[in-house]
Formats: sequence, C-alpha cells, structure tokens
Amino acid sequence: MKLYNTLSRKKEEFKPINPPNVGLYTCGPTVYWSTHIGHMSKYVGDDILRRALLYNGYKVKHVMNVTDVGHLTSDEDAGEDKMEKGAKREGLTVWEVAKKYEKEFFGAMDALNALRPDVVARATEHIAEQIELIKRLEQNGYTYETDAAVFFDVSKFPEYWKLSGQKLEEKKIGAREDVFIDKQKKNPYDFALWFKRTGRFANHTMHWKSPWGDGFPGWHIECSAMSMKYLGESFDIHTGGIDHIGVHHPAEIAQSEGATGKPFVKYWIHRVFIMIDGQKMSKSLGNFFTLKDITERGFKPMALRYLLLTAHYRTGLNFTWKSLEAAQNALDNLYDIFKEYDEPKIGCAELEREFLKAINDDMDTPKALAVMWNLIKSNYPSAAKKQSLLKMDKVLGLGLDKVKKKTAKIPAEVKELVAEREKARKEKNWVKADELRKKIEKEGFMVEDMDKKTKIKSK
Ligand SMILES: [Zn+2]
Repeated sequence: MKLYNTLSRKKEEFKPINPPNVGLYTCGPTVYWSTHIGHMSKYVGDDILRRALLYNGYKVKHVMNVTDVGHLTSDEDAGEDKMEKGAKREGLTVWEVAKKYEKEFFGAMDALNALRPDVVARATEHIAEQIELIKRLEQNGYTYETDAAVFFDVSKFPEYWKLSGQKLEEKKIGAREDVFIDKQKKNPYDFALWFKRTGRFANHTMHWKSPWGDGFPGWHIECSAMSMKYLGESFDIHTGGIDHIGVHHPAEIAQSEGATGKPFVKYWIHRVFIMIDGQKMSKSLGNFFTLKDITERGFKPMALRYLLLTAHYRTGLNFTWKSLEAAQNALDNLYDIFKEYDEPKIGCAELEREFLKAINDDMDTPKALAVMWNLIKSNYPSAAKKQSLLKMDKVLGLGLDKVKKKTAKIPAEVKELVAEREKARKEKNWVKADELRKKIEKEGFMVEDMDKKTKIKSK
C-alpha cells in the first residue's frame, strides 16, 4: 500500500511500526458549532483510509480527539474563544455546547457511514495527561513562562519546520488587530502550552489547577498528550487537513518529540479543502453548508459520501449542487442494480485486484469507483458481481450490505400482464396499456416505465 507522506513529500510504501497493528490518529472536531461539509469530507477521507487498511489485513486502532476546551478562533493563539462564543450565541453553558455539537457531529458521521473511532478522546477528560506532558517539556528545557502563559520555545527545536518545509524567514507574522500579543513572548512562532486564568482570560469558564497556576491548556498539547496515551510515543499515521501543516501539526511534533526524544509519527496524511462552486467555503460568502443543509434539500447523506469518492483526497473536490445531484443519481442507480442481483457467489478476481491496486495507490477513489462500474457493466454473472461489490464496498462504505434484495416473488400471471402491457405500449395502444396497468395494480404490483424496460415493484 502506498501513501503520500507530507513529511517526505513523496508517495511511500506503507510499513507499519508493529505489523499487523496500525495506530491511526485523527485531529477531530472543535465542538462549538455544526461541522461543515468541508470538515466532514476530511473525516470521510479518514474513514476510507481506515477501511483500506482493514481491507489490507491490518488491525487498526483509530483514535480521534474532540476539542471541547475553550479555544481560540485562530490556531496561532489569537482571536476569540470558540467555546465561549458558541455558548454566548446559544444561551447555553460551554459544557452544554460541547455536548450538543459532539452528538451532532457523530450523528452526521453515522449518516455518512463512517466507522466510529475506537477511542474518542475529549480534551477536558485528559487535562492531567496534558499537564504531565508540559512538565516533561519543562524538564527538557523547551518551555518558558510569562505572566499570561507557558510557551514552547520553538528556537530550541529546529525540527519544528520539517513538516511544513517553511524556512523561518519565509514565515509571515500574523498581525491582525485582534491578535493577542504577549509582549513577553520570545519569538512569534512560540505557541502556548498553558494559558493562565488572568488578564483577558480572567473570566474563562473552563479552568483547572496546574503547576503554573489556574488556567487551561493550549490547543496543540491535547493532540500530543492523547495520541501518545492511546497509541504510544511513536505511532504510524496521523491525519488532518492541509490547514494543519502550518502550525498545529508542527506544534504536535515539537511537543511530542521534545518530550520523548523519539520520532512521533511515521506517516502524515493531509486532505485538501473542498471548494464550493470554485470558491473557498466561508460563512461570509454564504456557501457554508452542513449535512443538514444537504438533507433539507432532499439529498441523502450517502450522496455526499459518493460525491467525495469521485475526487482524490489530495486534489480536492469542487462541490456544486449539480454534482451532488449526479452523485445521488449514480448512487440510486447502483442500489437499484444491486437489488436485482442473485445471491453472492465467487467474485471476479481480476476486477477485485484492479480495485485493490487503485485503493492501494494512495487511495485513488475515483479510479476505484471506475473499476466498480466496470464490474457492473461486465459480462460476469450477477452472483459474482454481487460478491465482488460487497467486497469493494468494505472500502467504499456505500452501504451495499444494507441494500435488501427484492424479496417479493412476481407471480406468473403478473409477469404475463406486464408482457402484454409492454406489447401494447410498443403498438402505442395506450388505452389497453393503461387497462393492463390497473389490472397489475390490483394484483398488488406497480410498474415503472424506464427507457427500454418496464420495472415491476411490489406495492
Ligand atoms: Zn490535532
């Protein structure tokens, strides 16, 4: 299996540290608002990766964090506190906001048929682990304290730049008006490990005791502390969006490797953002969609999953309502065809191999989908197609295992009536065709006229 590793900027052969076990960590949602489809696409991508690993025979332990501590709207220790903002907006407590949106998030993930992580780790339930890690960094000489926070001193960890490949002089300093500038900060890239409940955070709702005073952890530290707790100090795969390459993931590497002296993660996988009508998704452009927006327009959540599969995760998808409609049609078509197939028997080895090759080539899902449709169009018996489709769907996750075969047996009389009706239709005898349709309906069946064929359904 080949995966594109951001760390080496190459497609690499995947070799886990301790096969057949694979440790997989996903940066999860910040639960202060509904997750938009851009973020959902990232988690569907992780689900495909996990299913692909399972398909290849690996034993996967998937850990996802839930950021429920109050954090800032920018990952550079700036901006407003997200949880407090959410609480104010909805007249709830920060804890209620976190609970509400975590539930909503996993509900949406279920609807998209994404496997639940083996471990869901909430930041607020791992404060002790985060404090322990900061203590280790302090002992190793990577931290310094100001009146407002404890910072990681990036200048002491030159490898900070290895993931992003940026050079210090290329980094721009974010000088937005709302940026919180700690005048005691040594250099602009230093990031907070612990915020003290003082100054602008004097009224911060979520706070805990620590060796550096009452306060709350920085965002980055939770991922280092929780991933290492559940997957060990070195593990196989860490995923995220490309927005994490600049700050969040370098910070995770610095914290983890600074504490342990060991390599933190072997493979870094990053997903490109999806575009909406060729534009970046943003609240101000009004093109910020959630799964609910999609279902309210009459689409099935699985249509979104299908659509996401049509683009490679490193190319990104341009989402349009038209493309979603096409995805919905393709999916309905797939389900209809699948329903007609005979009971599964020995599959089509050749196409299964082709499918695996596509998936193992850095998760080439567009190619994998094409192989799936080639199988459907092939001359293999339907039992073989069904067998192979069910296998492929272990990776694609389109829910074919839940599609029921048509159980109602169509009686010979009804079949005869349908044949007669088809004949009448060919002869353009619409009156007779209509009479026959009524007779068929009396028998408890419905006819649906397709392009060339008539479909029979039980009522
Ligand atoms: Zn993270």
